[in-house]
Amino acid sequence: MIDRKKGFYDEVRETMPAAERARATRDMVRETVLYAYEHAPAARRKMDEAGVRPENVKVPADLRKIPLTRKADLKHIQKGEPPFGGLAAVPPRAMRRIYVSPGPTFDPEGRDESHWRWEKAFFAAGFREGDIVQNTFSYHLSPAGLMFDEALLRIGCTVIPAGVGNTELQAQVLKELKVTGYVGTASFLMTLLEKAKETGYTSGNGLSLQVALVAGEMFPESLRARFRDEFGVEARQCYGTADVGSLGYECHVAKGMHVPDEIFLEMIDPATGDPAPPGTIGEVVVTLPNRTYPLVRFATGDLSILSEDPCPCGRTSPRLLRLVGRVDQVTKVKGMFVHPEQVTQLAEKVAEISSAQFVVTRTEHDDNMEMRIVLKNPAAASDALIARIIETARAITRLRGEVRFIATTEVEEPDKKIIDLRKWD
Ligand SMILES: [Zn+2]
Repeated sequence: MIDRKKGFYDEVRETMPAAERARATRDMVRETVLYAYEHAPAARRKMDEAGVRPENVKVPADLRKIPLTRKADLKHIQKGEPPFGGLAAVPPRAMRRIYVSPGPTFDPEGRDESHWRWEKAFFAAGFREGDIVQNTFSYHLSPAGLMFDEALLRIGCTVIPAGVGNTELQAQVLKELKVTGYVGTASFLMTLLEKAKETGYTSGNGLSLQVALVAGEMFPESLRARFRDEFGVEARQCYGTADVGSLGYECHVAKGMHVPDEIFLEMIDPATGDPAPPGTIGEVVVTLPNRTYPLVRFATGDLSILSEDPCPCGRTSPRLLRLVGRVDQVTKVKGMFVHPEQVTQLAEKVAEISSAQFVVTRTEHDDNMEMRIVLKNPAAASDALIARIIETARAITRLRGEVRFIATTEVEEPDKKIIDLRKWD
């Protein structure tokens, strides 16, 4: 049996006291800005245009003098100065690998020991030397497969580079190779486990899987509970991007994702560009001290909530409580942010609701928010229910909307929680 409580990877850095952490962060930010300025032409241009010299960045708060570099603009930035838009600090021939993300945009991987830094995430999720791990992330073009693969090798695991799809074969592999660890999406893990169950093997009875690290999609607690209770699998989630690698990982407490010490993270109010205080929604902006791809204020487009409350696990790093959506899904209604998670919250808080969708329109200079509601039982529609939905939505969004009950067949663009029909010409 693998002792999953043993050891604590890189414990010195992850448990720094506050003052020491502040010092280390300050030094890292200074060094990164200086290094990027000296080696990455795009970083230098951005700072020159803003009239900022590296020595003007003395503390992390000084970073705000430097404009954001938006992930959403990468495609254009790279086209303007191929292949990396002047953001890379070394020529392509000095890189270990180059990946291609949709767009296309190119993602460099350096030759340093751990470019993507996922070892801590695996360790915190209980992965140990001796685990046999099925990696179901893609190994083609995208960095996902290899970035996890290499971290697993470094902590002493054996990897099955399974990639995406082939459910039947993968379920068979899970059994025959006595796989103990899984990395991939939560939904594919459930697909595999259900396939395994169908063919008659369960936890302790042909199924050896114990730990899982999931990423890439929302991970509801109900799903985590099913993995544990039905299949005996402890699952933890992590968050990262193709440009940056690890941005957060859950510990055994599993209440938010610890921000790794190796990066500096800011939370920015997407409307004003000001810092978003802990506990409020902000865009994840990262400064990355990487020798190949040093990023200064790289805006990921992901919205999250940061907590600085201490975690019972002993790590002193802040945590991203959860991802709440993408910046481009956020809509401003009457000057207030509305984001997809709020629509989900409404549907969860009012038991009669099967699904909800907000539709924003404009009459003259007024925004209107219509809440299109599909009920579990259409007969439940009543004035009292309408009043309760309006009140609940107001508590969540601080906005007053109108309620319209619709049938499932009337839902337009079902994958969207918010539809914005306003014209701005
Ligand atoms: Zn923790």
